[in-house]
Amino acid sequence: MNNQLDYLGEIASLLPGNVYWKNRKGIYLGCNESNAKTLGYSSSKDIVGKTIFEIFGEHMHQYAELIDKTDNEIMSSNCERTLEEYGRNKDGSILVYLTKKTPIHDDQGNVIGLLGVSLDFSAWKKIEGELQNQIKVSEQNRQITNTYLANMLANLPENFYWMDKESNILGCNENQAKLFGLESSQQLLGKNIYDIAKIVNWKPEVAEKIRQNDIKVMETRKTITIEEEIILDGMLRTFVSYKNPLIGANNEVIGVFGVSIDITERKKFEKALVDALQKAEAANIAKSNFIRNMSHDLRTPFGGILGFATYLENIESDHTKKEYLGYIKLSCEKLLNLINEIISLTSLETGEQKIQPEPTNIKQIILDVETLMLAQIKNKNLEFFYNINKNVPEEIIIDKMRIHRIILNLVSNAIKFTEKGTVSITVSLNDINSDNKTANLNIIISDTGIGIPDNKLNVIFERFTRLTDSFEGKYEGTGLGLYIVKQLLNELGGTIEVESQLNVGSKFKCQLPCGLLSSTQS
Ligand code: ADP
Repeated sequence: MNNQLDYLGEIASLLPGNVYWKNRKGIYLGCNESNAKTLGYSSSKDIVGKTIFEIFGEHMHQYAELIDKTDNEIMSSNCERTLEEYGRNKDGSILVYLTKKTPIHDDQGNVIGLLGVSLDFSAWKKIEGELQNQIKVSEQNRQITNTYLANMLANLPENFYWMDKESNILGCNENQAKLFGLESSQQLLGKNIYDIAKIVNWKPEVAEKIRQNDIKVMETRKTITIEEEIILDGMLRTFVSYKNPLIGANNEVIGVFGVSIDITERKKFEKALVDALQKAEAANIAKSNFIRNMSHDLRTPFGGILGFATYLENIESDHTKKEYLGYIKLSCEKLLNLINEIISLTSLETGEQKIQPEPTNIKQIILDVETLMLAQIKNKNLEFFYNINKNVPEEIIIDKMRIHRIILNLVSNAIKFTEKGTVSITVSLNDINSDNKTANLNIIISDTGIGIPDNKLNVIFERFTRLTDSFEGKYEGTGLGLYIVKQLLNELGGTIEVESQLNVGSKFKCQLPCGLLSSTQS
């Protein structure tokens, strides 16, 4: 036995961790140096003959009791054991050991003591403790998140559901259950679309159609958006359904996730809007036709009044009567002007005059406008000039009537709203196409007149909008001129912009596409 223990001593000194052996009474017979040092002794010899109670001391008595009890159990049961134990460090602190204890026998097989091997496990224990804490916290967080998600899903608006590959409902929100007349989403779980069809009295074809849509989503792995019309509670309802494939962890399709939004009311509203729009359009055309017919009918008698007033003015010698006839003529002219504007407007709105692009001499149009406006230009003593850029060919292809009307309206406004200074027109081309077939025509009409406030720059293009009322007497008009200009430009695919400064002047910039004759050089 002694020989065996000597060997044991030799071997133990080579082993890592703490190795020790005790007799049946728990008295240490030996240990390796590492064990002695851990316990705060300078040599293993200092431990021999001591019990665990003496070594641990009073303050660790309870731990010594535990060890002593375990040792006795191992020796009495003659069974080795691996366990976690608390031990003492040299500074008095407590260490955790992973220990294996084996009974030692004499030659007859009687238990005469035990051999213990203990590895310091404290650092691992600490990490394990922290890990367990982290796992606990993340488990708690997971549960909280799940609760939130479940609550959110249950109470989401509209209708949500997710189902497996056989279209068995795996989950849905409360709305979805209510839609089918059920009290809770739980009642829908596990049911497939055919079961639902029975609950809500759908024909089997309806369920089959829905099932086919689900299959399509799973087969193509693509989201589909479809309108589904379903009878619920005896009422035909329209849903827009978004069906998405559910993809599992291994990238295989595991079912369908669907969202259905009830658009029945929106559909009704849309239909009502379309009906109302059609009625309004029909009423607008009827009104335009009526106004145009009435304006045409008015023009003839006014023409007669104007003609006879002119005739009488020419033959009348009485100065006062001549003056009154002059007023009648002026009033007739104004009324005729108004009627003409209204006729243009109505024919624009009914799309009566087709666009007719034709070779047009822009310079000639400007000269015609100047001739028409000459009396006003001279009356006001304004300077009028135009500048046509060299890149504008003599003729361009454009709707002559419309371009004439645009320039006339803008120039007559410029003259009307300018008391002194200049009214000018500049014309140029840009964006000339590489094959010289099309270009952009720029026309700028500038004046040094009263200007337009910034906040009115948009409204002046609306129908019957005027910034200065006629009753002020100074600037007469209908409020239709700019509206007509904008409509004409729209028809020609062009735009108009205005820059203006009060009491400095205004600049109306028009841009519109035009065609070029083949002989034109850029
Ligand atoms: P109107 O028959 O009144 O001229 P328009 O539609 O041609 O109708 O113009 C609308 C309003 O825009 C005018 O009443 C005027 O207040 C303003 N306006 C138009 N052109 C000019 C301009 N060149 N200078 C200042 N104000 C202008």
